[in-house]
Amino acid sequence: MTEAEDPSRDRLKHHFAQRVIHQARQILEVWQRLQQSEWSASDLAELSEANQRLLRFAERFEQFEHAQLATAIGQSLADVEANRGRLSSLLITDLNRLMQRLSRTGLRHGDRLDQTSLPPLRKPIYIVLQDHERGERLAKQLEFFGLSAQSLDSVNAFHATLAERLPAAVVMDVDFGGVGEGLKLASKMQEGLEQRLPLLFFSHHETDTPTRLAAVRAGGEEFLTGTLEASSLLEKIEILTRVAQYEPYKVLVIDDSRAQATHTERLLNSAGIVTRTLFDPIQTMAELADFQPDLIILDMYMPGCTGTELAKVIRHNDRYVSVPIIYLSAEDDLDKQLDAMSEGGDDFLTKPIKPRHLITTVRNRAARARNLKARMVRDSLTGLYNHTHILQLLEDCSFRARRESKPLSFAMLDIDHFKKVNDSHGHPMGDRVIKSLALFLKQRLRKTDYIGRYGGEEFAVVMPDTDLQAAHDVLDEIRRRFAEIHYPAQPVDLFCTFSAGVVELGEHDDALMMASQADEALYRAKKAGRNQVHGLQDGFVSSGASKHTPADIV
Ligand code: GH3
Ligand code: MG
Ligand code: MG
Repeated sequence: MTEAEDPSRDRLKHHFAQRVIHQARQILEVWQRLQQSEWSASDLAELSEANQRLLRFAERFEQFEHAQLATAIGQSLADVEANRGRLSSLLITDLNRLMQRLSRTGLRHGDRLDQTSLPPLRKPIYIVLQDHERGERLAKQLEFFGLSAQSLDSVNAFHATLAERLPAAVVMDVDFGGVGEGLKLASKMQEGLEQRLPLLFFSHHETDTPTRLAAVRAGGEEFLTGTLEASSLLEKIEILTRVAQYEPYKVLVIDDSRAQATHTERLLNSAGIVTRTLFDPIQTMAELADFQPDLIILDMYMPGCTGTELAKVIRHNDRYVSVPIIYLSAEDDLDKQLDAMSEGGDDFLTKPIKPRHLITTVRNRAARARNLKARMVRDSLTGLYNHTHILQLLEDCSFRARRESKPLSFAMLDIDHFKKVNDSHGHPMGDRVIKSLALFLKQRLRKTDYIGRYGGEEFAVVMPDTDLQAAHDVLDEIRRRFAEIHYPAQPVDLFCTFSAGVVELGEHDDALMMASQADEALYRAKKAGRNQVHGLQDGFVSSGASKHTPADIV
């Protein structure tokens, strides 16, 4: 028998591939830990060792994507070493990019990749419900969202499946296999593991405090009751399983003294923070637009203008009102410091400063600013970017696309006959549909795409590095899949569709022009019968328009 025909070879391969995944996870854990501390030589050594193990396993077990990533990570770490163990902005960015890619690799069963460039499925979700039929239904619904989910119907099946492969998360009925038995089963599961699994409990009935307490003790991070809805479940799972979605903080240092700036940069880089220095304050606005820092460190006295003057200029631009500004200066006159703070500064650090003090201040300020910004630029119902911000992102992306001579596409989506959904099923049901389309887009588009809620039931998507054809194909695939989702309702389930218009950045376009062209394409899609995707040019009509519109279905 040749190797290729040997069925046990596949199983073996799968088994060993698990080790590769395990090793990859260890690297990501070290990486995550490093985000919270200053880097030491021993941290780097630990990362390097873990990476070498990953490379060995990946090569031996023929996991080529992992092998490739491990090689690249090894190269970056070697670069750090060659730099006398010092991190630089470039190296941090490089490493982070590789880690992000590593966090997105999973096992691929038979390389079941979709035709369109949809993200690969992640680890499965195990659904363990007393009502098995319901579990099956839920698993199917989750699959529509691009997750793989498996419903398990017995304690034995649960154990067996768990032994075979660890899931991304477990949804456990507190009463699975008898009253309160699910709780016990889950806590036993956690005991046997090196690291706790994200665990969500479900109870068909409202529960009392003791049950909830038991759930918390068993490591349950969420407790769901009542009707278990795929979209709300997905939202919870998203939050619990977010892996290393970490972006290093970015700090712009504005200082006319090269020596001081270099010193500050070194300190921050050593803590994994990416920096850029500006010696000439006149360039500030252009640099801000290009670098989009989380925080600015400003020198008090520079030729040409003072730090406080510059802070005022920065604050005059709406986009930067909330970027923290920290003054770093030898000025120790408290009155002057307070004056500076009242002019748009957030903090005043006096030189010489202790490295830890600087790093901690920067981290805390940057973290809070990010948090605040996330709330300012996001829509509260869906968590997507709001109207203003998605247009700003389109503008940023169009500048970048032009500079790098790369394509850029922009799409507008609008749910079809949405008024009817509200009229026949009520506003809350309408909200649910909006939320589920938001989640659906998040799941199905690339991490590098930006998704916004443009208006009531309208969405906008910015797709960097994507031409019209590719954007059209991806959206059309999403359109087809979205139409397959059904929302449980009386007397019949509810289906929804959307229409979309897509455009690609042209030679003379700007963001506003793209938006209005996409709007026009969307209008044409609506006029042509809805449930279809139109490109800017005629003839770019999706072939997959459905036979009926939701008007017939609702
Ligand atoms: P078309 O296929 O032409 O897009 O028809 P439509 O009914 O979807 O379009 P129209 O723009 O006439 O109606 C949109 C409706 O969406 C009107 C409004 O009541 C509803 N809507 C807007 N925002 C929300 C929201 O946040 N929640 C809910 N439930 N409904 C909303
Ligand atoms: Mg509308
Ligand atoms: Mg509509």
